[in-house]
Order: sequence, then structure tokens, then C-alpha cells
Amino acid sequence: MHEMSIMQSLFKILVEKAKAAKAQRIRSVTLRIGRLSGIEADLLSTAFQVVSKETMAEGAELKVVTSPFQIKCKQCNALFKSSDRLLFECPECGSKDVQVEPDDDLMVENMEVEIASSDL
Ligand SMILES: [Zn+2]
Repeated sequence: MHEMSIMQSLFKILVEKAKAAKAQRIRSVTLRIGRLSGIEADLLSTAFQVVSKETMAEGAELKVVTSPFQIKCKQCNALFKSSDRLLFECPECGSKDVQVEPDDDLMVENMEVEIASSDL
């Protein structure tokens, strides 16, 4: 399972970040995946539950959002976003001669942590 190895390496980074922020617990994590990445949100969630067991992130909520397609118009070079695979038309010049730009596979968009109040 591809998503499991992705999550294992990502999880290490998350925990390091949380520890660096002196967090006691990771409350929620938001990930953004590219539409062309082939990563499945469901499998990512399952992988997160497995790797977070008995860690500071156990029980944390994982949110996965999918990036819209990033499209580039070949006629006028305008960049635009579309979440619809079939409706690619340049909003600038109306051309349908467009191409899908490569996207990031996976990004950490946000992480909420709990920090001990005695550290204040
Ligand atoms: Zn255009």
C-alpha cells in the first residue's frame, strides 16, 4: 500500500514539528493532495490511524482536501484552476487549447496541536 509508506514518512515530520513547538498532542492534521498524485484520501486516513496509534497523535482528526486542477492556456499562457476534468476552457481568451500543469503530490496544509499551559 503506497499510502502507508507515504504516511509513515510524513508522520515523522509531523511529530518532529509538534515536538519542536513543545506540543503535547496533535489534535488535527489537514493534508492537501494533488489530483494527479494518485493518492487516495481514504487509504491515507486509514494509514494515519495505524501510524498514529499510541503516539501523541492518537485520535487526531485527519482532513484531506484535494487540490483543483491547475490549468495553463497554451494560447495566452493564463493560469487557472478547475475542479472539473471535462470543462477546461481558458477564462481569459476562451480557448480550449489548454494543458494540465503538474501538481504537488502531497502537502501539509495545517496542523493543530495542544501545548501544555505550564509552558506559558
Ligand atoms: Zn487563454
